[in-house]
Amino acid sequence: MRRFFTSELDVDPDQIVLCSNCSTCRWTCTSYEEFKSEAMFAGGRLRLLRSYVEKNLPVDEGFVRAVYACSTCEQCVERCPIHVPYVKIIEDVRKKLVEIGKGPYGKLGVMGDMAFKHNNVYGENPQERASWVKPDTRISDDSTWGYYVGCTASYKRPEIADATLRMLNYFGIEPQILGTEEKCCCSPLIRTGQVTRPITEESDVGETEVLGTLEAEKFIVHNVEQMKSRGVEHVIFSCAGCYRTTTLDWPRFYRERHGILPFSTQHLTQFLALKVKKGELDWKGSYPETVTYHDPCHLGRHVGIFEAPRQVLSSIPGINVVEMERNRHNSVCCGAGGGFKAGFGENAINVAERRLHLALETGATTIVSSCVFCKLNFLDAVKKRGVDIKVLNIEDLFISLMGLG
Ligand code: SF4
Ligand code: SF4
Repeated sequence: MRRFFTSELDVDPDQIVLCSNCSTCRWTCTSYEEFKSEAMFAGGRLRLLRSYVEKNLPVDEGFVRAVYACSTCEQCVERCPIHVPYVKIIEDVRKKLVEIGKGPYGKLGVMGDMAFKHNNVYGENPQERASWVKPDTRISDDSTWGYYVGCTASYKRPEIADATLRMLNYFGIEPQILGTEEKCCCSPLIRTGQVTRPITEESDVGETEVLGTLEAEKFIVHNVEQMKSRGVEHVIFSCAGCYRTTTLDWPRFYRERHGILPFSTQHLTQFLALKVKKGELDWKGSYPETVTYHDPCHLGRHVGIFEAPRQVLSSIPGINVVEMERNRHNSVCCGAGGGFKAGFGENAINVAERRLHLALETGATTIVSSCVFCKLNFLDAVKKRGVDIKVLNIEDLFISLMGLG
């Protein structure tokens, strides 16, 4: 039975009363560390939500900002003694804010606009989605392997897409890519509540014209059906966000009307770890440096891949792998996820800068990750804040040490 007045938020009160206000989650929260505000950690945000719902307060900008100033890193969920499903709750609230026209926050709506118009969140030309493919690499039209590239690797970090393809080619795999038929995986849209959203545009005479409705489900079904029609049975991912979304979100959007996903999914670190385990990865070069591994939240806490990247790194000749104090389940967020970088750019770089300093404290000269977003944000922190550390992804190391790059 509902115990609260119905507010315009109309959230399920049973969800928000779960929190006992113990504030255990405050001390490891990415957004609390950045903003130092009582509204900026899971327990504080849930308290705020509860008071808006109980008192039937109109949603204002401060509330919307607080709801979106969270990277959905799940550190709080890990810490919470009573397992409050905070990230699910906050994603539901974001979805509700979008439905009532009060969200998403700031310029995050541009990602949805761009996805609707161009199939990618950056507003890049969809016809150039596969422009990163170089003539000396191989793709095919009839492989049972697929490589889902994602918006960020396709347009912003093409060296990651190139390295992943070279890695697959090295092991004799010429994967299919969807190219101009690949659409956004919907991670940025789902994380920011833009699951369905009317897309509008101002006309020349100042009238608001509705162009149509952005529907994440249509993007997902399109991508799955493309893979299916091409006979793809195994899909490789280089982006932690795409992998998380395909593993946890695509099935729930696809299943109801279409059944189970017709392919298996694998992050490239799992693919490489299997090669190490089978003795099929014979490193040609060495990396005689001290390296620390940063767990991307979407690959680590969200889907539980912690050991595969470490197994790959440890197999490299000459390498000295050290751990940051906060690693694996307790890893610190890089600050790029959940729409945080798109909505709070400078704050996201502050978060990345702090993480890079934690890496330097171990004596590492290189921080290695396995997510396009982590790499993008770390490189921004190196460039803008002058942190002296090398930032690489596992696939970068692979192609460099194997003489493929
Ligand atoms: S998901 Fe991360 S940033 Fe958001 S409240 Fe939890 S710990 Fe803080
Ligand atoms: S979300 Fe969990 S850890 Fe955070 S205040 Fe509530 S009960 Fe405590």
